[in-house]
Amino acid sequence: MIRTRFAPSPTGYMHCGNARTALFNGLYASKEKGALILRIEDTDHARSSNEFMHVLQENLGWLGVHWQEGPDGKGAHGPYVQSQRHSLYENYYQKLQALGKSYPCFCSDAQLAMNRKLQIARGEPPRYPGTCRKLESATVAARIAAGEKPATRFAVTPGSKITFTDLVKGEQTFVSDDIGDFIIRRADGSASFMFCNAIDDALMEVTHVLRGEDHLANTPRQLMIQTVLDLTSPQYGHLSLILGDDGAPLSKRHGSASLEDLRAEGFLPLALLNYMARLGHTYTGEHANDFMNWLELAAGFDPARLNRAPARFDRHQLLHWQ
Ligand code: GLU
Repeated sequence: MIRTRFAPSPTGYMHCGNARTALFNGLYASKEKGALILRIEDTDHARSSNEFMHVLQENLGWLGVHWQEGPDGKGAHGPYVQSQRHSLYENYYQKLQALGKSYPCFCSDAQLAMNRKLQIARGEPPRYPGTCRKLESATVAARIAAGEKPATRFAVTPGSKITFTDLVKGEQTFVSDDIGDFIIRRADGSASFMFCNAIDDALMEVTHVLRGEDHLANTPRQLMIQTVLDLTSPQYGHLSLILGDDGAPLSKRHGSASLEDLRAEGFLPLALLNYMARLGHTYTGEHANDFMNWLELAAGFDPARLNRAPARFDRHQLLHWQ
């Protein structure tokens, strides 16, 4: 069974790009008679809020994107809010440590910034140079005993390649030597996005992930985590950006960029659905340009027809559907 998910971070109002991501995942699940999962990624405690989490769910409901599993109590893979999943993550931190695939890192922000500067000056890609990977266990124990609080890094296997077929962009290959050992637990003990997102997709048995292309570079890292832990990986598809009419990524300055704003302006959910389903995705057949309801939009949705080129937000088109 197809299982997709929408995994927003409740750090602000939902903008068009996120709403479209939710829509595509919902349409795909619906077409395949699978399930859409709503997972709240609130690992960034300082920026996340309960209010945004509620507004987000209310907006999705208004738009007509309905999930089968999520924080409102539906589904057998919960909890669906990451801040409630600490004990699950802890188990996998321990496994990684036992496998020798993670290590404590004491480097300060200032030290890391200095490394980056030097690497850039040498014309090298900035990445963590592995300073703490070489620490002896006695040194680690002594530093922890002295009160230092290390972060935890994933130990990337040197000299390997990570290849996957992106549902939108086709075959992608990354070289592990270009990827520095990355943080999976911050020094304050909180889990990093990179880690939780990978673990949860596996534990929630997600089969397909459609998400913004800003996450493409995270995918090899997340595949590494899942592979080392012997977990399953979903198929990933990275959606191209939405641009404003000036060619810059869509933002507040292009007018209404949040669902809240568009709603306040009086746009109707079905007009937005008809518009967004065609924003970077093409319908085919004689009814391609017809006004469609949810089931029709879902029936005609095909990840193979997600466009690689960026989509342009065109208010005239939105008004046409309205
Ligand atoms: N919480 C991430 C975001 O809002 C989700 C990334 C993903 O879909 O994997 O960008």
